[in-house]
Amino acid sequence: MEVGLHRAAPILTIPLPLKGREANIKGDTSLAKLISFDIDGTLETGDPPGRITMVMVRQVQALGYIIGSCSDRTVSHQKRMWQQHGIEVAFTVLKHRLDEVKAQYAAEHYVHIGDTNMDKYHAELHGFTYYFPDNSIDHLWEPI
Ligand SMILES: [Mg+2]
Repeated sequence: MEVGLHRAAPILTIPLPLKGREANIKGDTSLAKLISFDIDGTLETGDPPGRITMVMVRQVQALGYIIGSCSDRTVSHQKRMWQQHGIEVAFTVLKHRLDEVKAQYAAEHYVHIGDTNMDKYHAELHGFTYYFPDNSIDHLWEPI
C-alpha cells in the first residue's frame, strides 16, 4: 500500500503527438487543427531568427495541433532541423507545396505562419489562414 504519497500528479489526457498525427491522416473522422511554420524570420532556428521558439512549437504540438514546416529551405534541411530538436513533425515541404499538406491531412482549420508576403500568398492560395509571427498568433497557444 502506498502511504504518505503527496498528491498525485495530474494525469495528462493530451494525446501523444505521434498518435495525434497518425489519427488525423485523412480517413479519420476526428479533425484536428494544423499549423505550418515558415523557418527563416519565423522560428528561432531561422536566419534571421524569428519569434517562435522550439518550446512554443512543442507546446502547440502538445495541444493537439498537427505541425510541420513549409519553407524555402530544402526538405533535408527542414528534416535535420526538427531532428536536432527532437521534434517529430507531420510534414516538411517547400513553400509552394501547402496544397500537398492539405491533401494529406484532414483538419478543421489550416494555419500557416510566416514573415513575408510570399507566406501570405501561398497560404491564401491554398486555403490556409495566414498569420505574421507576432502577437497575432498568441491565441493559437490557448487550449483547443
Ligand atoms: Mg521567412
